[in-house]
Amino acid sequence: MEEYKKLIFSKSYINGEWFSEGTETFEVLNPADGSIVATINNGDAHTVTQAIDAAHDAFKSWSRKSAKERSVIMQHWYALIIENREHIAEIMTLESGKPINESRGEVDYGAAFIQWFAEEAKRLYGDIIPGYTADRRIMVIKQPIGVVGAITPWNFPLAMITRKVAPALAAGCTVVVRPSEETPLTALAIAHLAEKAGFPKGVLNVVAGTNASEMGKVLCESPLVSKISFTGSTKVGQILSSQCVPSLKKISLELGGNAPFIVFEDADIDAAVKGAIAGKFRFSGQTCVCINRILLHEKIYDQFTAKFVQAVSALKPGNGMQEEVNIGPLINKKAISRVESFVADAVKKGGKILIGGKKTDEYFFLPTVIGDATKAMDFAKEEIFGPVAPLFKFSSDEEAVQLANDTIYGLASYFYTNDLKRTWKISEALEYGIVGVNEGLISSEVAPFGGVKYSGSGREGSKYGIEDYIEIKYICIGNIE
Ligand code: ADP
Repeated sequence: MEEYKKLIFSKSYINGEWFSEGTETFEVLNPADGSIVATINNGDAHTVTQAIDAAHDAFKSWSRKSAKERSVIMQHWYALIIENREHIAEIMTLESGKPINESRGEVDYGAAFIQWFAEEAKRLYGDIIPGYTADRRIMVIKQPIGVVGAITPWNFPLAMITRKVAPALAAGCTVVVRPSEETPLTALAIAHLAEKAGFPKGVLNVVAGTNASEMGKVLCESPLVSKISFTGSTKVGQILSSQCVPSLKKISLELGGNAPFIVFEDADIDAAVKGAIAGKFRFSGQTCVCINRILLHEKIYDQFTAKFVQAVSALKPGNGMQEEVNIGPLINKKAISRVESFVADAVKKGGKILIGGKKTDEYFFLPTVIGDATKAMDFAKEEIFGPVAPLFKFSSDEEAVQLANDTIYGLASYFYTNDLKRTWKISEALEYGIVGVNEGLISSEVAPFGGVKYSGSGREGSKYGIEDYIEIKYICIGNIE
């Protein structure tokens, strides 16, 4: 038996046990060839209710543990994930199609949030504020918000979970995770490792099922859940937000993006090409910080384009399980047809396919560059989520900023320049939560990740990331003579 199979589980994980009900199942498919990776018991609204009850019961004792006790268990969990890095990476590649080297990178990246927040747990300091009369003292303490519902997408089957779960657990919250139905296996594998690490039952629960809207509604509407954290599309974020309104439930949202990548005329073109390849084609363009629009100053348009197309021609598409592959399949057939329609729309409106431009079979789309892109093309406004890089032209800093900000989204943005003044001015002018300057890869557990406008609210990672999971309490002590 392949070793990774020891970490494949086929039921939801609730209250410290593998939980199934009914006989309905669903299949997790390998996007590289459509084969079945695993068959899972299909959880539903009732499964979610069971998990919420378990998390609610566990909250009483987990929240009362010392930060140090929570931290020790989290450190143990981190170590177990790293110990099982290769197996988890294989499972991730099998269920998501992600090239195996990227999966290994995601295990490291995702686990790093657990390590980081295990440390932060001990630094959740309050304040002592000078009293407003001589006999009063004012204290501010930070307390866990309660049961957290985490709803996550398929593009980072591990990291999107740990970015939410690690700060929540560190703060003393308990959690119900509903991973994407496309990639529940990584989530269930790390739930198993959480149990081995020593988390008490009910602290971390994972519910697997295909009826996303029904399961999400239960989480949003339950009076026992205090907080929702969601990563996914803006459309679903809006649905969940509205479902949280009646109970005034707090919600953090990491939603879609439309990242611009600006190359100014003074930029180091080779560095920009390298950054563009990394920022565009990671996981075949299927991340929310992936470059959506490459904006090039007219003076360097031809030079950048030639080098970029050459670099794209060196990418190796194929099954992500093969070591040398760096462009895997798209997640499903729907994703392929979506990318096809972006390309067809661009060509109809005068765009030129400089390389790629088509699918090679029902799961793979070639890395593609489209020249002469214009604002009229669909990808100027919408998130591509695939391996297509459109090249736009601009002639002044003002025009570059105007083009970059001409979107409802505001997650990640990037620009390349060697001019210090421009670095400041453009960084401040971009209406985005994240700016990469001369850098195409910006995600890290030490930095605050999150967007503005229709890209959401809240920040994940860094010292700020735990704030979404705490309540601030002010305690006034009077009559101190
Ligand atoms: P993506 O395009 O990344 O799949 P989605 O927003 O469709 O983005 O999905 C993100 C996560 O939200 C997935 O786990 C998906 O199953 C879940 N989801 C989709 N629709 C709903 C919904 N109506 N309510 C709750 N969760 C949903």
